[in-house]
Amino acid sequence: MYLFKRKEELERHLTTARNEGKHIGFVPTMGALHQGHISLINAAKENSDLVVCSIFVNPTQFNDPKDFEKYPVTIDQDVQMLTEAGCDVLFLPSVQEMYPDGLTAKMHYDFGSLETVLEGAARPGHFQGVGQVVHRLLTLVQPDKLFMGQKDLQQCLVINRLLKIIQSHVELVMCPTVRGNDGLAMSSRNLRLNATERINALHLYKGLSEIKRQYQKENLKTLKENAVKELTANGFEVDYVELISILEDGSVIFPENAGVTPLYAVVAAKEVSSGVRLIDNMLL
Ligand code: AMP
Repeated sequence: MYLFKRKEELERHLTTARNEGKHIGFVPTMGALHQGHISLINAAKENSDLVVCSIFVNPTQFNDPKDFEKYPVTIDQDVQMLTEAGCDVLFLPSVQEMYPDGLTAKMHYDFGSLETVLEGAARPGHFQGVGQVVHRLLTLVQPDKLFMGQKDLQQCLVINRLLKIIQSHVELVMCPTVRGNDGLAMSSRNLRLNATERINALHLYKGLSEIKRQYQKENLKTLKENAVKELTANGFEVDYVELISILEDGSVIFPENAGVTPLYAVVAAKEVSSGVRLIDNMLL
C-alpha cells in the first residue's frame, strides 16, 4: 500500500493510475478503523480498480472541542488493517495540508433542511465541516465512486446533496451498517467505552429493534416515547429517537406528520457514564 501525506504526491500517483484507465474507489475516514470501515474498503475493491482510503480527523466537523480532543487515534493498527484488506493507497494529510489557509470556512453549502433536523439540529455546523473536507478530498482524489456507511445515514444524504451542488459525477455507494455479534453498530467512538458501558450501549440497538418489531401495529409517537423512556432509564441523555422517510430530493420527512410510511428509525444519545455520544439507525 502506498502512503501519501502530501497532496502533490497523491495527485501525481492518481493521475498516472487514471491515465492507465483505472477506476478509482474512495473511502474517506477519520481512522480508528474497525470492520465497518473495512467493509467499505471491500466494497470499493469489488467495484473499482484502485482503492484510496483517507484518514483525517477533520477539526471543522467537531462542534464539541472535547469530542475532537478525545477522538481515538490508532494509526499503526489502521495501516496494518488497510494493508491486510488490500487497500492500494492511504492518504494521511495533516491539518495544515488540508486547510493551508486556516480553519475558517471558505464555502457555505446549502444543505437545506438536512442542516436543521436530527444531527443537523444536534450538532450545529457539523455538516458544513463535513462538506468542507469531503469537497476538498473529492477535488484531490477525483474518484469514480465514493463509499460511505449507512451508519451515518444523514451524512450520506448531505454528501448526495454536496455532489449535486458541486455538479460532481461521482457515484455515492451507501454500504450497510456493520454490527458486532451482539448488534452494537461498530463505531470508532466505541473504543472510549469500558466493558460495562459497551454492554449498556446495546440499548440503542435494542430500542431500534423494538421499533422495527412494533411500528406497523403501534402508534409512532408512543413507540418513540417508549424508546426515549427506556434509554433514559438506562443512563442515556437522548438527543432524538425518530421515525423518518426520505423524499426523492434526498430530504428527510417525519411520517408522523406527513401520513407516509416510515423508512428508517434513527437514534442519537449520550451514554452518560462515558460521556460518549452514539448514533445508530435501522431500515424498517
Ligand atoms: P468515520 O471514520 O466515523 O468518519 O467513518 C468513515 C466511514 O465509515 C463513513 O462513511 C461511515 O459511515 C462508515 N462507517 C462507520 N461505521 C460503520 C459501520 N459500523 N458500518 C458501516 N460503515 C461504517
